Amino acid sequence: MVEQLTHYGTVLEQEPLSRHTTLRVGGCARYLIYPKDVESIQGIIDFCCEHSMKFKVIGRGSNLLASDQNFLGVVLKLDRSFNHIQFEGNEVTVASGYSMMRLAKEVVKRGFTGFEWASGVPGNIGGGVYMNAGAYGRDISHNLLRVQVINRDGQLFWLDNHECQFSYRTSIFQTRKDLVVLQAVFSFEIGNIEKSIQQMDSWREYRQSTQPLQLPNCGSIFRNPPNQSAGKMIEDLGLKGKRIGGAQVSEKHANFIVNVDQATAQDIADLIAYVQKAIQDHYHIELHQEVEYFNW
Ligand SMILES: Cc1cc2nc3c(=O)[nH]c(=O)nc-3n(C[C@H](O)[C@H](O)[C@H](O)COP(=O)(O)OP(=O)(O)OC[C@H]3O[C@@H](n4cnc5c(N)ncnc54)[C@H](O)[C@@H]3O)c2cc1C
Repeated sequence: MVEQLTHYGTVLEQEPLSRHTTLRVGGCARYLIYPKDVESIQGIIDFCCEHSMKFKVIGRGSNLLASDQNFLGVVLKLDRSFNHIQFEGNEVTVASGYSMMRLAKEVVKRGFTGFEWASGVPGNIGGGVYMNAGAYGRDISHNLLRVQVINRDGQLFWLDNHECQFSYRTSIFQTRKDLVVLQAVFSFEIGNIEKSIQQMDSWREYRQSTQPLQLPNCGSIFRNPPNQSAGKMIEDLGLKGKRIGGAQVSEKHANFIVNVDQATAQDIADLIAYVQKAIQDHYHIELHQEVEYFNW
């Protein structure tokens, strides 16, 4: 089986997903592949259909809670070969494996503005589009013109911004799991390089002082309920520091859960459920996860 897959890129067998998620948890993937090109993605999807295997595309794993179970399918990791970027005037075409942090810097370097918010978000373009990642009142949908995707049948097509159905941390890709994002086209306005650098520096300092960046985490665990801050509600209930196994509600930011001591995915899921119940009991509000559960 593995020989067939090696046509499509670099294949790792029984690869621990804890190496590919920023929470540093997760069982082994039967196969983890870095596809070498678009045709290879199609080949891998066909392979999975033929062998009745599941597949999952990941980027940096910075929004994933992979279960402790082994994943009996194929994980496609889009980074190495999906890393191209091309500027044409104020438009830029970026492959889905390109880092959002790097794009933020490139955009500013070329004298444009509009992507500074992403300079502290450790995901790739594909994961960013899927999540409609954002910060400081902006999100990826703001400057996005269109996205190229491939579906299960190997058809390539473009979805324009409104067809992506972006809303707060959601997009069509969260319901249409058959679509793999290949590249995205953005347009940016002309900016002021110094001002943008200052803005990114000040946001970086802010993140460093308010987020537990030294410990494995996945950013915000919960989406903010309308007009409320999930972090503030959790903090007000005195849950900072609450620990289950090796997972802890961060002392620094209550909407972060950190892996302080070889946490299992189950520890993290139990802590998430504990916080949700506490919020439900006290505020009668249901907190929804921003982190995505995978292979549960
Ligand atoms: C320290 C820290 C700070 C963070 N700050 C923020 C923040 O300010 N704002 C914010 O929005 N998020 C934040 N995050 C969360 C995370 O970085 C974002 O959600 C990011 O968009 C996830 O990208 P990724 O490449 O890691 O995706 P992954 O976690 O690998 O995947 C997330 C989902 O996207 C899907 N996906 C990935 N690539 C593709 C593709 N090419 N085609 C189709 N589906 C795909 C996956 O299947 C999965 O369902 C933070 C995380 C950390 C660790």
